[in-house]
Amino acid sequence: MPELPELESIAAKLTESLVGKTINKVQVLNHIILYGTTVEQFENKLPENTFSSFRADGKFLIASLTNNLEIVINPMLTGRIRIAGKPRKPIKEDAISIVIDERSLWYSDRKRMGRVYLIEKGNYKEVADFYGRGPSALDPDLTLEIFKTRIKRHNGQIKNVLRNQKFIKGIGNAYADEILLFAGILPFRRRATLTSEEIQKLYDAMRTVLTKFKDILMKRPLNEIALEKRDFLMVHGKHNGICPLCGNRVSEITANRFKTNFCQTCQK
Ligand SMILES: [Zn+2]
Repeated sequence: MPELPELESIAAKLTESLVGKTINKVQVLNHIILYGTTVEQFENKLPENTFSSFRADGKFLIASLTNNLEIVINPMLTGRIRIAGKPRKPIKEDAISIVIDERSLWYSDRKRMGRVYLIEKGNYKEVADFYGRGPSALDPDLTLEIFKTRIKRHNGQIKNVLRNQKFIKGIGNAYADEILLFAGILPFRRRATLTSEEIQKLYDAMRTVLTKFKDILMKRPLNEIALEKRDFLMVHGKHNGICPLCGNRVSEITANRFKTNFCQTCQK
């Protein structure tokens, strides 16, 4: 599941390659991921328009076009965005192909749970779960003070609070584990039991971990980011692995099909 560091890197890569480029042809290969628009509208409204910007908004990607339209993508679990340098045939997972000169932009989705919207610019009420979210985890205006005030409104296990987009947007299952290892806090701790010092550690860990991972991803090409080979993770997905901070074994618990990894030595 792409999280904020992936989406911000993908937006930066697409900006570099596609801003100012004009769409030649659009093909919807699987309509199940389209929302609020028909295949015909999606295929006909886009050609001859030019990409003016790409940006990440939490776990959404927004592509703006010069004709006042926006494509909003919520990739959910398995949505992937790639660019092909030369024409290629679609594969089973492909859902949308956008041809731009000699290149093409592909949206693929193995589980087809992602959502792609075509909206009038800024009309985000068409987009499910867009409004009501908190500030971005990397928003420069999200100070420690604001973080401390906002977190008080959310109860329950701290990992669930971090993943709750209404608290802060952009953090998912994998990076929540990484942030909590770095902060030294067990994922199952109730938010209300955290001390003021621990909340500060959590804030610092959130900024450090997400910035570090984004810097790593920014050095990779777009198609590599899409593969989500997160070889830089310290604890998530490392069941029976070794905690890089203390050398002890990493623990794992599965709940609601989501895995949580943590270190019983480093996290209290
Ligand atoms: Zn450890």
